[in-house]
Amino acid sequence: MKTMTCRQLGGPCDLEHHGESADDVINAQDKHLKDAEKAGDAAHQPARDAMKGRWRHPKKSLGWYNDTKKAFAALPDA
Ligand SMILES: [Zn+2]
Repeated sequence: MKTMTCRQLGGPCDLEHHGESADDVINAQDKHLKDAEKAGDAAHQPARDAMKGRWRHPKKSLGWYNDTKKAFAALPDA
């Protein structure tokens, strides 16, 4: 199990996401950003828009996705 924060995933806060894979923490961040948008949290809106754009343009977002996977792989296992 590894931990990545909202900030490490491009967001503005230090909320921690835990997961066994990069996909787990990316999905957790996606949900967190959706919740923030629903709550009217303006600080998270740019990250939310970026994430939405990634789902819409998966090929263009491969760089971000691979970087996130690499960062996840480099984390110590806790
Ligand atoms: Zn956050």
